[in-house]
Amino acid sequence: MNQPQTSNSLFSRLRFVLVGTSHPGNIGAAARAMKTMGFSQLVLVNPRFANATTHEEAVAFASGAVDVLQSARIVETIEEALEGCNFAAALSARLREFSPPVTQPRALAAQLAGEASLNAALVFGSERYGLPNEIIERCNVLINIPANPEYSSLNLAQAVQLLAYEARVAATGEALPVSPIGFQGVAADLGQIEGMYAHLEQALVAVEFLDPSNPKKLMPRLKRLFSRAQLETEEVNILRGIARQIMKKLGQQ
Ligand code: SAH
Repeated sequence: MNQPQTSNSLFSRLRFVLVGTSHPGNIGAAARAMKTMGFSQLVLVNPRFANATTHEEAVAFASGAVDVLQSARIVETIEEALEGCNFAAALSARLREFSPPVTQPRALAAQLAGEASLNAALVFGSERYGLPNEIIERCNVLINIPANPEYSSLNLAQAVQLLAYEARVAATGEALPVSPIGFQGVAADLGQIEGMYAHLEQALVAVEFLDPSNPKKLMPRLKRLFSRAQLETEEVNILRGIARQIMKKLGQQ
C-alpha cells in the first residue's frame, strides 16, 4: 500500500455516492477512478439497472477495479446512502439559488483531509438530470468543478476521477493551506439535522409563521442559513429544544 491507512485517514472516511446513474459503464468507470486513487467505498442510490454492479458494461469499464464495483452498496434512498455521515458535499455543474456554500474540489479535499472527525460523502447526480434540489439542500457544501462556462458539464466518471485525485493529493499530505471548516465540537450527523428541520418546521407551523398551504421558500432559505453555520451536535440539540418548548407552550405536544 502506498498510502497511509491509519484508522482515520481520509481513505477510510470518504464515500462516493452516485444518485440515479443511468449508464452502467459510468458506474464501472467511477469504481476504476476511485480505486486508482485509493478509495473503495461506493454507494449507488437507485441506479437505473438493479444489477448495475454485475452489468457487463460496468464490469468492462471497471477493468481492474471490479472489487470496488462488486462491493458497492445499492440503496433506495439518499438517507440510507448518508447513514453514519456527518458531512456531505453535493457535486453540481449548476449553481442553485438555495444551495449550501459553494466551494471547489481542492479546497474541499484539504478541509476533509484536515478534519479527522468527519465521515464524509461526495454526492454525484445522474447523467441526465444532475442532483435534485432536495438532495443539494441536505448537503453541507456544494462543489462546483471550475470549467468552461459555455459547457461545464463533465462526464460523471470524470467528475469522480477529479474529486478522487484531489482527495488523494490532500490525504497524502500535499494539501494547500486552507482555512478549516471551523468545527469546534462534533459535526452534527446529517440525520440529526434532517430531524431538526422537521421539528423546526412543525414549530413554525404551530406559531403560524409558516403557512403549510403557502410555504413559499421558507424552509429552503432556513436550510441554506443553517448550512452556512456548519452545525454541531450540541447546536442541533439547542434548536430542537427551542422547537420543543414552542410546541409545549402552545399545548401542541
Ligand atoms: N445534465 C446534468 C449534468 C450531469 S453530469 C445537469 O444538468 O446537472 C453528472 C454529474 O457529474 C453531475 O450531477 C455532477 O454530480 C457531476 N458534475 C459534472 N460536471 C460537474 C461540474 N462542472 N462541477 C461539479 N460536478 C459536476
